[in-house]
Amino acid sequence: MKKLPILILLIACTSFLIANAQERDEIDEQYKWDLTHLYSSDEEWTSAKNKLREESKKLDELKGSLTASAEKLADALEFLSDIRKGMSRLGAYANMKSDQDTRVSRYTSMKLELQQLGSGISAAASFIEPEILEADSANLMAFIKEESRLAPFDKYLSDLLRRRPHKRSEEVEKVIAQASQMAGTASNVRSIFSNADFPYPEIEIEGKKVKLTPANFSRYRASDDREMREKVFDAFFGKLQEFQRTFGAKLYGNLQSDIFYANVRNYESTLHSALDGNNIPVEVYHNLIDNVHLNLPTFHRYLQLRKRMMKLDHLHYFDLYAPLVGDVDLEFSVEEGKTHVLNSLLPLGEDYVEVVRRAFDERWIDMYPNEGKRSGAYSQGSAYDVHPYILMNYNEKYNDVSTLTHELGHTMHSYFSNKAQPFPKAGYSIFVAEVASTVNEALLNDYFLNDISDKNVRLAILGNYLETAKGTLFRQTQFAEFELKIHEMVENGEALTGEDFDRLYLEITRKYYGHDEGVCTVDENIKAEWAYIPHFYYTYYVYQYATSFTASQAIAEKLKNDEGAVEQYRKFLSAGGSQYPVELLHKAGVDMSSAAPFDLTIARINAVMDEMEAILDEIGHD
Ligand SMILES: [Zn+2]
Repeated sequence: MKKLPILILLIACTSFLIANAQERDEIDEQYKWDLTHLYSSDEEWTSAKNKLREESKKLDELKGSLTASAEKLADALEFLSDIRKGMSRLGAYANMKSDQDTRVSRYTSMKLELQQLGSGISAAASFIEPEILEADSANLMAFIKEESRLAPFDKYLSDLLRRRPHKRSEEVEKVIAQASQMAGTASNVRSIFSNADFPYPEIEIEGKKVKLTPANFSRYRASDDREMREKVFDAFFGKLQEFQRTFGAKLYGNLQSDIFYANVRNYESTLHSALDGNNIPVEVYHNLIDNVHLNLPTFHRYLQLRKRMMKLDHLHYFDLYAPLVGDVDLEFSVEEGKTHVLNSLLPLGEDYVEVVRRAFDERWIDMYPNEGKRSGAYSQGSAYDVHPYILMNYNEKYNDVSTLTHELGHTMHSYFSNKAQPFPKAGYSIFVAEVASTVNEALLNDYFLNDISDKNVRLAILGNYLETAKGTLFRQTQFAEFELKIHEMVENGEALTGEDFDRLYLEITRKYYGHDEGVCTVDENIKAEWAYIPHFYYTYYVYQYATSFTASQAIAEKLKNDEGAVEQYRKFLSAGGSQYPVELLHKAGVDMSSAAPFDLTIARINAVMDEMEAILDEIGHD
């Protein structure tokens, strides 16, 4: 059963290396976040933490009387909720302090102290759910009606009851807990083997020997030099293939573990089990795969466009990562980036833009890279009573403006949800977490396209969009389909080996890439690709990249064309986790079990390709 988690809502989005950054104290204060909104000093943080530690000792006193009355239950849940809220705020401060300069060991210690406190509290609170579940459902429902202080917890309580059929007897639960020690073995072995022991091949690149680690593979597969790309693919996948039997045994072991949990918790299938946490109907998963199948011709159109842009006679799988277009050749100072972001968000309403302006003016954002600062970008929305923060490593490129509006999307989602919802209902799940961020990106995209007439810049912006669509919608759905297929086969009693995974992977990949229709040749060696993708151990996780991209593209299209769309979307932004994810998206006018959001997304992708082809015709690119 899911515990009331100590939720740290932190959405990290990008990652890159910072070279030769300036020192932090050389940066103008207005471009650094102001963490005194959380605690005036480290000392204040420490005393807040000590106070919370003392408070949390009272958890024990709640034992045994949780469901004696509606009042008692409300007292207990409020108490626990306040502790979680306090922990989130403490965590936000320690993590952000540490991220602004990872070299400072004091903040590393603060994070560790907090982790310890957190696990202590989780252990001390572990009696709560089992004790609530001992109560009669009808009684609990009556409590919710009777005691208004339970209103913030109604979703939590009804969700507990919903999942009760999958809760087993105390004795069985003990066995499940013990089994968890073994269940992760396949995944652990994969991780250690791939990260530490695997003999990644060495190849010669520009006269130097280079070890093709996954990071180097990603780098060199994007080479402009076609021979090099082919060589890199051959070497990398060839080496994976040598260990096909071992990789196969690991993946099979992980499937067995998924099946164990689904069975022991009385689920119809692993898919039902994995999607149940967020109450996502399995139809949503099937609907994704079905709709992507129907729209493979659009994907093939993309592949043909890529072939044309690369001036190739024939496209191979190893050509897919070469840059389709150059970087967008424009630079934006922070102030320029800010102006464009604010303008692009106007369709969401003046008051929305006002809050974004506050984020800049009231120092919610840590903008520039500095020595020791964590790389990448994230939004930190877990200080419920304060406001979200953003970590950036702004470098004046088009992508940085795009990342900025992406993070502001997360931040506004957290801001409006924290404002409208009580703490227990404010946090939103991964299934919807990337919607607001990618809607903002889409708005920025559309805004720039309205404004920019330079054909090469347009081509670069459109091409970037297309690559995102390829990577999130088509590739992730291809993974989702493979994952479903192998689970279903093992559920039906088949034993799968590395050779089987190879065959199944190649079959699905060839279907997606139109191998038989001559669209893109998926060479035989591509069958080994599954072996290096860690996501196949995350159990039905990747489909969410595709569904949230689809939802956000559908919303962006509606915002352009549909009168009531802004109001609907704003309701979604304020809804936090007050409902299940699929219902939340309904608020925004998106039905993920229908074809509608896919149709809108595919129309958007085709419109982008229409324009790209028109530009290529105009500039005489044959
Ligand atoms: Zn994100």
